[in-house]
Amino acid sequence: MPDTLTFTHIPTPTPTPAAEREAILAKGGFGTAFSDHMVTIEWTEGRGWHDAQIRKREPFQIDPAAAVLHYAQEIFEGLKAYRAESGGVTLFRADQNAKRLNNSATRLAMPQLPEASFLEAVESLVRIDKDWIPGGNGSLYLRPFMFANEPFLGVRPAHHFIFSVIASPVGDYFKHGPKPVNVWLSKEYTRAAVGGTGAAKCGGNYAASLIAQGQAYDNGCDQVLFLDAAEHRWIEELGGMNIFFVRDDGSLFTTPLGTILPGITRASLIELATSKGIQVEERKYSFEEFQADAQSGKVTEAFACGTAAVLAAIGEIRFTGGSFKIGDGNGGPLTATLRDELVGIQRGRIADTRGWVR
Ligand code: PMP
Repeated sequence: MPDTLTFTHIPTPTPTPAAEREAILAKGGFGTAFSDHMVTIEWTEGRGWHDAQIRKREPFQIDPAAAVLHYAQEIFEGLKAYRAESGGVTLFRADQNAKRLNNSATRLAMPQLPEASFLEAVESLVRIDKDWIPGGNGSLYLRPFMFANEPFLGVRPAHHFIFSVIASPVGDYFKHGPKPVNVWLSKEYTRAAVGGTGAAKCGGNYAASLIAQGQAYDNGCDQVLFLDAAEHRWIEELGGMNIFFVRDDGSLFTTPLGTILPGITRASLIELATSKGIQVEERKYSFEEFQADAQSGKVTEAFACGTAAVLAAIGEIRFTGGSFKIGDGNGGPLTATLRDELVGIQRGRIADTRGWVR
């Protein structure tokens, strides 16, 4: 299989008129509007990747027997293109998304996409749809994904896949903007077990989390917090974000990798904080200990982190039979500092000394 594919560019003959596009961009929100184009690349057993195209965004023709509709052989990624203050456009650590997609592909018995083709796909879409990148705090959320579309009802890895990238102009992830989020502890449901797919970014993980996410909304919370599957004791992560805690001595810690999604924001924050001389630990942390530490003031801040929301302070934890606040419930200084620094690097305001931005 060649390491780079040749992409055919077929711009849409009917792009969204500028005034209509500007009205859509002005609305903000998350994940409801889409740009004019998409990338598609096909993979066939014995042939490899072929027919790479940048073309008009339109519905897929999909057979009712396509494997993805029955056995959920699907993976995805999420990253953003930012309008830099210098006038250019930046992507943050897109190579890490390419690697994570391939790790997810391995777990879900799907083909590897060469990293160069992933990057070309993402960059070509950003180039052709660059007018869809909002200004201000907005960004163009990019959603690469791969799914099995072989019409076959036997249970085995499919022989035909589509890799695609779509783009959605976004504002704040949370409807209420950057104020602290409330988090719902799911005591009943878990997200991932040892040997399962927790570390892969596959649609099935999210399908299984939605009932708990629904309970979070019902209880006035923005995100759900999952504990480990074996003991229902150890904090893992949130429905769509990783979690960090700040101690009263100024040190930082987060839950260890294994059954959680290895967040690119998480890894970046560990590196960033360490280089600022902040002690960072990856450790198992029980919910029981978290509650005691928050109540005694030993843990002064907690925050959620991920591409969509960057860093969001956690104000309050709620669960069946109780709730507690972290600090005064309004977020804290380290959360704000790390957020400013990361956003600054992503948007080209702060010098990137690590080769994270392209
Ligand atoms: N955990 C889960 C379950 C997620 O869906 C995400 C979002 N991709 C994250 C963590 C954060 O990952 P990242 O920082 O790479 O966006």
